[in-house]
Amino acid sequence: MVIVLECSECGGRIKIPDDVLEGEIFSCPDCGMEYEVYINNGKVELKHAEIEGEDWGE
Ligand SMILES: [Zn+2]
Repeated sequence: MVIVLECSECGGRIKIPDDVLEGEIFSCPDCGMEYEVYINNGKVELKHAEIEGEDWGE
């Protein structure tokens, strides 16, 4: 099975296998934004892949 999550940058669809492991990196096929997977209460979610030493704010 595949989970489809929305890119918060461009609204593109990011497909993630449901056996994904926390910490894996996926990039948006449309804009190339990189996301790191984390598991929140058994639910797969994405956060922006963090670049160490940088603070992008919100
Ligand atoms: Zn995108």
